[in-house]
Amino acid sequence: MSPPPTLRLAVDGDAVAANWQALSGICADAAVGAAVKADAYGLGVDRVVPGLAAAGCRDFFVAHWSEAPAMLRHVDPAQLSVLHGPMTSAECEFARATGVRPVINSIEQARRWQAAGGGVCDLMVDTGMNRLGVRPEQLGDGAIAALDIDILMSHLACADEDSTMNEAQRLAFEPVCRAVAHRRSSLANSAGTVLGHAYHLDLARPGIALYGGVVRPELAELIRPTVQPQCAVIQVRTVPAGESISYGATYCANRAMRVGIVSLGYADGYLRCWSDIGAFHAGETRLPVLGRVTMDMTAIDLTAAPQIGEGDWVSAEYDLPEAARKTGLSQYELLTILGPRLRG
Ligand SMILES: *Cc1c(COP(=O)(O)O)cnc(C)c1O
Repeated sequence: MSPPPTLRLAVDGDAVAANWQALSGICADAAVGAAVKADAYGLGVDRVVPGLAAAGCRDFFVAHWSEAPAMLRHVDPAQLSVLHGPMTSAECEFARATGVRPVINSIEQARRWQAAGGGVCDLMVDTGMNRLGVRPEQLGDGAIAALDIDILMSHLACADEDSTMNEAQRLAFEPVCRAVAHRRSSLANSAGTVLGHAYHLDLARPGIALYGGVVRPELAELIRPTVQPQCAVIQVRTVPAGESISYGATYCANRAMRVGIVSLGYADGYLRCWSDIGAFHAGETRLPVLGRVTMDMTAIDLTAAPQIGEGDWVSAEYDLPEAARKTGLSQYELLTILGPRLRG
């Protein structure tokens, strides 16, 4: 056992569950699942999935087969789908042995699944994203007809924008749902949930909004923040007027300054783009970042917080929509980049 860390990602599991409830309110006519790929977008499956399940979430989506075991500690295999689908017979065998559903993304995957013995699966149909999925004109193939499909899904390319693509994809998916036998249909990601009733179908599959992402203005009032990177001040120093701080000497003190060195850096996902523009908070007091963020440490201005000393903790300013505007990163990147030391 090592001593307690000097940084942590505070995760508000209640806020995640509340965000799921809010999306369930929007999709009152449909079920709402949860995309929990990439360790629940960096928040940690163990920290968010029990709360989502307790709130009533029944359908979970990961990208990789390697993500399934962590999920199976919390949910039934029949509640879990693997979006990348079966690329090898080993993956087919894993799916059949565990009962986790593969999402079939191509004729080849459909054949592979059937050859391995098949069973209930999901099917992704591509209606314009051109990432994974069977094209509508391929649906007549015998390998597709042989599938036993639970969730028939497609994925929106532009749901976070008012694009004509949204309606085009929805309309392209309608005949697919009529032509392919299935139990449940699914189209909307987080942004898709606010495009209207016609997009909800049987099941929505939000991810980012559960974790505090505001990917459309309609979600701003409904979605609560869920994460807060926090770290300790590991040293306090006085920087004399005229001296510079950190790599590249980009910041120069124009007066004697009380500076805190905090144990959070780009190796933790607090990227260098926060240099000179980021800030930390001690209660209500804002403590600006001074100079470049380094691998393990960042300098902050403690002038406004004389009470903060070595060993005290501060929180990074990390409001997702605001952080995305400031850094040019997407809200998805801002969450999933948060590193292993921070997650603990
Ligand atoms: C990631 C993903 C989602 C969730 O998308 P968000 O934009 O995070 O809500 C839904 N469906 C599929 C197929 C995905 O890959």
